[in-house]
Amino acid sequence: MFCKLLSHFPRRSWMSIRHYVRLPSVEDAKDPLKILKHDLVDGRLDKILPCPRECDVLIIGGSVVGSSIAYFLKEQQNKLNVMVVEADSSYSSASALLSVGGMRQQFSRRENIEMSQFGFEFLRRASQLLAVRGEPPPDVQFNHAGYLILADKDNADTMLKNHEIQTECGAVSTLLSADMLKKKYPWINTDGIELATVGCQGEGWFDPAALLSGLRGKNRSQDVPYVNGKVIGFEYEKIRLSGEKRYHKLDFALVQLPNGDVQPVRAALFVNATGPHAGEVAQMAGIGDENISAVCAVPLPVEPRKRYVYTLHCVNGPGLDCPLVADSSQNFVYLRREGLGNNYICGMSPPADMEHDHSDLTVDYNFFDEHIWPKLAHRMPAFEALKVVGAWAGYYDYNFIDQNLIIGAHPYFKNMYFANGSSGHGLQHAPAMGRAITELINYQEYRTVDLNAFAFDRFLETDDMDSLGGETNVV
Ligand SMILES: Cc1cc2nc3c(=O)[nH]c(=O)nc-3n(C[C@H](O)[C@H](O)[C@H](O)COP(=O)(O)OP(=O)(O)OC[C@H]3O[C@@H](n4cnc5c(N)ncnc54)[C@H](O)[C@@H]3O)c2cc1C
Repeated sequence: MFCKLLSHFPRRSWMSIRHYVRLPSVEDAKDPLKILKHDLVDGRLDKILPCPRECDVLIIGGSVVGSSIAYFLKEQQNKLNVMVVEADSSYSSASALLSVGGMRQQFSRRENIEMSQFGFEFLRRASQLLAVRGEPPPDVQFNHAGYLILADKDNADTMLKNHEIQTECGAVSTLLSADMLKKKYPWINTDGIELATVGCQGEGWFDPAALLSGLRGKNRSQDVPYVNGKVIGFEYEKIRLSGEKRYHKLDFALVQLPNGDVQPVRAALFVNATGPHAGEVAQMAGIGDENISAVCAVPLPVEPRKRYVYTLHCVNGPGLDCPLVADSSQNFVYLRREGLGNNYICGMSPPADMEHDHSDLTVDYNFFDEHIWPKLAHRMPAFEALKVVGAWAGYYDYNFIDQNLIIGAHPYFKNMYFANGSSGHGLQHAPAMGRAITELINYQEYRTVDLNAFAFDRFLETDDMDSLGGETNVV
């Protein structure tokens, strides 16, 4: 049944992570003598236990998605014992901080539009919502500007359909014919363009670091610990069923601390908020292991995909009325203004058969020269002359089946929740993910945006992955 999906996945052994130094368990913690004995044996008598040993909800990954989940959980139930474990407290390779901070309403899926609407509302009120007494209110530096999406003849019907769904959802954007486009943006070459839409509200870009710092600050003020550690495995509770011991639920996460020690942390619920690494962390939990159960045979289809962002200076480039231009007729190559003074950023996902090697975050400048520049210069001739000022790379949290979020509890390990796989739009959806996970945990159902279509179960219910209705606007 799952063979079509399984063929996408390399086979790895998740059992190989089971070498660790065991610190005293939660039970041991009740007995100071046991801890003393343990530390004497280990030669660490003066060691201060660095990480709580148990919590109600353990959030793995403390970037925007994990922090947003912690924020909403605490807002709803202040007494809930929420803990975040984050592998890299500098967030040096977190997708959020390497993103371009975009917010748009122009998606093809209702769920994505509604999540963006909530995201925009959240950002609009972020300085109040994330305020901490005695601290300056956070400012996410929202820059209002529409996304201008261009479509050729082949993509025009899809654009019309998308526009209809967006309008039904209350998102406001304007349809432009090629003539109208030329009139409004005379610096665009409209050759081959049939139709365009430009967002009129709730679109633009903002500072991801400011959002993350605001969420973290608020969470800390609500006593949410951020532990610097990496989850490297899990332990399970097993139950006896028809004489056979079966995996029942996740019991402990094994957290590797900066000094190399591994500490088990017990939790009632676990949330995988590890962005591009979500597939790997799910695999550690046995998701993808057919020996546990047939349902577990299907892995979480999320992996890191490297994306480059180039910063440009173009003396004759468009001015303040320059929106974020995304050309769907040219593989969604995009460009937007970056601050003032004719500075811009741009990028493009590579075609499926040309994915970049993602083993590190080095930048390939040839990709700009060969694949991006010709497209930009064709569509906006002013960019024939430009200077590449710099570049960076980051990882998309890529769902390689349908490029949509995977959210909610795993069908077998029901105490493991996902909020992964947004494939390049998870930053703007982070507040909506936080609220959605909180609803599931508190009420076992969605009370606002219905995200049931984005459950993990969709990969179990069909062999025809093309029927899943992926997002068509993946910039
Ligand atoms: C170039 C680029 C441009 C983008 N542009 C946009 C955009 O315009 N708009 C938009 O909405 N989105 C955009 N995105 C996507 C967006 O950045 C992501 O969808 C979003 O940031 C995902 O957030 P996250 O918190 O899930 O993941 P991350 O920000 O990657 O955070 C995951 C965290 O988990 C931690 N972690 C990983 N493994 C472990 C472990 N085993 N134990 C503990 N911690 C662990 C990591 O250290 C990391 O801090 C862009 C991404 C890139 C790369």
